[in-house]
Amino acid sequence: MQRIQITGEPVLHTVAKEVPQITDSIRELVEDMYETMDKAPGVGLAAPQIGVGLRIFVFSWEDQGISYRGVAINPELAFSPYDPADCDPESDMEGCLSIPGERFPVARSQTATLIATDLEGQTYTIEATGWLARIFQHEYDHLNGMLYADRLEKPYKKQMKKAIKASGWGEPGFSWLPGQDYLEP
Ligand code: ZN
Repeated sequence: MQRIQITGEPVLHTVAKEVPQITDSIRELVEDMYETMDKAPGVGLAAPQIGVGLRIFVFSWEDQGISYRGVAINPELAFSPYDPADCDPESDMEGCLSIPGERFPVARSQTATLIATDLEGQTYTIEATGWLARIFQHEYDHLNGMLYADRLEKPYKKQMKKAIKASGWGEPGFSWLPGQDYLEP
């Protein structure tokens, strides 16, 4: 298990690099990511969140009895256009393990197509809708140095800024270990 980096840590705000090759250390990293995501618990985790600037995320989500659990290496994501201002304060509520304890509504596209490589080096495609599409958009953003905080609209953007400031975050050095308390610099 790995410490989860909190907003302000530069790796979270930097575009991650392509994975050149699937090696044993990549397999170990992915194993760590699954473990950390499950323990947090979360429905997705991107490598930058544990301090590794590589284009990898894991996800774990169940929808109508179907389990979607996997790793996306060097993913590409296509999604239909949407209006960022069109968000529902209840159904669009999102959270992030790198801004622990906070939740704010953010608009997302209803559908997303993920094309990625798995640990065997095979390319796969998932056509996602609803929450799975949201998870993919959230995790894909992480690989581009973006947090959902960066996508918030009025009045939530300001509220989020305040919340981050109140926690003393927004600068390097904060992380937390699932199963323990936050805020161990
Ligand atoms: Zn996140």
